[in-house]
Amino acid sequence: MDDAIRLLYLEAMGITVWKPKASNSPVSAPPSAGAGNTPSEAIALHSEDPPYAAPTPPLPPPASISLAASSDYAAPNDVAEMDWDTLEKTVSTCPKCRLCETRTQTVFGSGDKKADWLIVGEGPGQQEDLQGLPFVGPAGQLLTEMLRAIGLGRNEVYIANIVKCRPPNNRDPKPDEADACRPYLDRQIALIRPKIILAVGRIAAQSLLRTEAAVSKLRGRTHTLNQTPVVVVYHPSYLLRSPGEKKKAWLDLQLALNTYREQK
Ligand code: URA
Ligand code: SF4
Repeated sequence: MDDAIRLLYLEAMGITVWKPKASNSPVSAPPSAGAGNTPSEAIALHSEDPPYAAPTPPLPPPASISLAASSDYAAPNDVAEMDWDTLEKTVSTCPKCRLCETRTQTVFGSGDKKADWLIVGEGPGQQEDLQGLPFVGPAGQLLTEMLRAIGLGRNEVYIANIVKCRPPNNRDPKPDEADACRPYLDRQIALIRPKIILAVGRIAAQSLLRTEAAVSKLRGRTHTLNQTPVVVVYHPSYLLRSPGEKKKAWLDLQLALNTYREQK
């Protein structure tokens, strides 16, 4: 995204971080972004980040394993013991729900496996399914800007999804699909041991927190998942459709940053 568009997004969110050395700026970069950086510097720091496109993602063999045979595939107890490599390999050929039939490839997750911040979205969209990486389409670009607004580069966080395979036509993942995929996310959380989880959008929030409450009710306060704080933020796809809600998203990001700082 070019800088002008990025600044428009930030402006729409009420973010003044691009003003150099604004002492009344609402945020400062967390320590991991480099001590002493102003938010504007933290953003500049990442403005040369390479695009998040995998040059030639390897395609797994077509999923030919029948679903009937899939119940034995990587039982949750086994998944809970896996190391990163085994987990990623297991996911890449997973036949545990119907989404395996239509995926191009799985989208395991990306970023720093020791990150303090875990970002959880709902599931891959078209671009993610093609590239094998999370949040690389239009919503991903806005997510990147949202993270930058609180001083975080994409490589400083870990980004994963509730389901690792794209639901056809970007429909919402179904509860049984989210349940089938959950042991993988649980293992990612256990391996990362994040200090804070940002649940991005309704599906991620409801699924992670096992609730049916609306995002409007879940946002604006801190939840916990096995003692890890969880903050809910509107999905960037929703924000692209409803730019008037960006102010609330900004407040949620600030809540997340404050919650994170209290953890430290
Ligand atoms: N939306 C999501 O929730 N996750 C992605 O990876 C991409 C778009
Ligand atoms: Fe397996 Fe998850 Fe993909 Fe379903 S969405 S096939 S459970 S990796």
